[in-house]
Amino acid sequence: MDFERICEGDFGRKVCVIGAGTMGGGIALHLANLGFEVTLLDLTPQSAREGFDRAKSASPPHLYLPQNESRVRLGSIEADLEWLAEVGWVCEAVVEKLDIKRDLFERIEPLIAPDAYVTTNTSGLEISLLAEGRSEAFRSKFMGTHFFNPPRYLKLLELIPTKETDPRAITAMTRFLEERVARRVVPAKDTPGFIANRFGMWCMYKAVHIAERLGLSVEAVDAITGPFLGRPRSGSFRLNDIVGLDIMQDIAGNLIARCPDDPFIGVLQAPESLSYLISKGWIGGKVGQGFYRREGKEFLSFDLGTKAYRQRQESELSSLGDLGKLPLTERLREAIELRDEVGEFLRLYLIPALEYAQYLKAEISHDHLSFDRVMQWGFAWELGPFGMLDCLKSGATGVNEGPFFQEGRQLDFAGKYVSIPEEPEYKSLQSFSVLEDAGLYRLRDLGEGVTAISLATKMGTISPDLVNALGELMTSGKVERYVLTSEAKCFSAGFDLNFFREKIEQEDWEGIDRALTELQQLSLLLGQTPGCAAVFRYCFGAGLELALGCPVAAVDAECQVGFPEARVGLLPGGGGTARARCIAQVHGTQEIAKLAGRMMLGVVQNNADAARAEYALRDTDVTVYHPDRLLFEAIALARSAEPIATPEWRALEGPVAGMIDSAKSQKRAAGEISEHDERIGDKVKSVLARATSFEDALDRERDAFVELCRNALTFARIQHMLATGKPLRN
Ligand code: NAD
Repeated sequence: MDFERICEGDFGRKVCVIGAGTMGGGIALHLANLGFEVTLLDLTPQSAREGFDRAKSASPPHLYLPQNESRVRLGSIEADLEWLAEVGWVCEAVVEKLDIKRDLFERIEPLIAPDAYVTTNTSGLEISLLAEGRSEAFRSKFMGTHFFNPPRYLKLLELIPTKETDPRAITAMTRFLEERVARRVVPAKDTPGFIANRFGMWCMYKAVHIAERLGLSVEAVDAITGPFLGRPRSGSFRLNDIVGLDIMQDIAGNLIARCPDDPFIGVLQAPESLSYLISKGWIGGKVGQGFYRREGKEFLSFDLGTKAYRQRQESELSSLGDLGKLPLTERLREAIELRDEVGEFLRLYLIPALEYAQYLKAEISHDHLSFDRVMQWGFAWELGPFGMLDCLKSGATGVNEGPFFQEGRQLDFAGKYVSIPEEPEYKSLQSFSVLEDAGLYRLRDLGEGVTAISLATKMGTISPDLVNALGELMTSGKVERYVLTSEAKCFSAGFDLNFFREKIEQEDWEGIDRALTELQQLSLLLGQTPGCAAVFRYCFGAGLELALGCPVAAVDAECQVGFPEARVGLLPGGGGTARARCIAQVHGTQEIAKLAGRMMLGVVQNNADAARAEYALRDTDVTVYHPDRLLFEAIALARSAEPIATPEWRALEGPVAGMIDSAKSQKRAAGEISEHDERIGDKVKSVLARATSFEDALDRERDAFVELCRNALTFARIQHMLATGKPLRN
């Protein structure tokens, strides 16, 4: 019953998901993305196939690569339960019915391996009731693993053991879920709805009640309860549509029935608007209408007063704009005192919600931090209820006993401050001390001789000054081992286009060539010192050229990666064209031709695995699937990294140039590319197919880049991108 056993060999690689619905399908594909061999069972072979097909066509997609679906084997509960004998973990995700789930556990118990874990994805049935009737051995390893929808994108998992779950099993499963299943685990108590649904659903209902009571529009409430409160844009009403009003009603009904002693539970009685919409079948996004409706290009909103749809109106609450620029903590403090609709709404909605959190906390959670984390990770709130209470002036709610969090400690439920355990694997870049702030970049001490070199420009934009500064740094001997990353919200959006615009206006072609030479040299320099790039969100153009220069890159799984240069009339000129060629060359001539096709269109990939499959990353670069472990993994890779040599250039067999030409002509004939795209394609070809060495390829890249800069169509693309943020296809 230890972590090593769940991860061991085939036993640890094989998992079974039972139930191929919304959750089962999503969990199965998430696990397939991570490399597990997944068995997915449903009632019948047909229902399994249908559920799986729905999951594969879900939007946003569950899969990183279409071929990952081959890791899923489909079967039925009728015929294939004996497959369970091979797996280390069975995750049950069938309909939310106590009897059905219990019957299933009874059937599978004799068939599972003695040390396999069985867990349930129930959103709120009591875990101890589900375990009733099972053997002691089964119960000692049984717990709730409550995933959120969609699993690929929501990292929270509530882990709900029962009193009979063995503490060693809890520890092993927690570690397994964090390290192998890419989850942030929050332990919760075995109470109806756990933390997320009990408190989260209440907040969703409360917002609707107060909107109705104050006669506020759905737009106004969404504006107040969106980014203004440090929450996602979906606010309250759009969130209701996303979750589905029918699902809300099911969860609320279940909570009302099971929490009769909760004095706050009346809030879960359906507000008028919600009942009306449900009676019409207008239950949200999945049927195309709920509190919002889209008609062609028009967005309509449901008017809570007239119960009719009307044109959507942007809310005109001026205090949102006035306070919107303040940091969240100050904003909350000011907003709650406002003498307008915003203040009134918050006093009637937020204050009771915070009081409810206070009332519930000891019943449903183990500590303030867990409670807050559920709202932060499951609902994407910037601050959980106790973090919010800490911001408000004491006395604002009448219940504030905080501060709940103070200097790495939290108040426990007995009123004592206890330290919050350090979690080195989740430390953020900003928590490491700054060794030097060089303006365009910062150095931070990551420990054990590893230094973070973090880009400090807006969106990690790369400029000649930054390239120079990094070049000097890499030859100064100051950095022995490094992680190259960014202080911004993305690694790098690429080279500063303003630079090229200015140089083109000045006709300073040498200046462009010099900047590219320095970028190419920096990329090579990065490879001479042991280190790792840690890239996330966007890794485009020159950013990717630097990442590929590092001995290895750790890439956040959701990172968009690629060379979009053609969208501004260019090709990668900082070594990217040559480097992509070196990655693709072992896969054959055909693949080089395909690479050229993508480069002439400026295609980028929307996840790390897709980028590797299209040669924008090396086989040796590492995808980090856990959304919060990128830096931790990058530090580990930096510690073991070795300097790398200049990429080896191999001669290609076969008529690559001809293949690129025919791909170009086909695309041109099909109207997919313009004459200028074709011209870019020719330049790409001159590097991919004609260069005789890596160095020759670098020279050709720069020449081609400068020639394209001299072309008016490229200049028009650059100007258009700078003015509109959108590509121009001319
Ligand atoms: P769903 O209705 O989409 O899918 C349920 C699946 O169970 C279907 O494929 C159905 O064929 C199958 N099924 C029905 N009767 C069965 C039986 N007798 N034996 C075996 N399989 C049977 O439901 P879902 O939304 O995927 O929810 C599954 C579980 O996950 C529920 O416990 C739910 O509470 C929980 N959950 C749902 C969400 C969510 O957002 N949908 C989130 C977290 C947890």
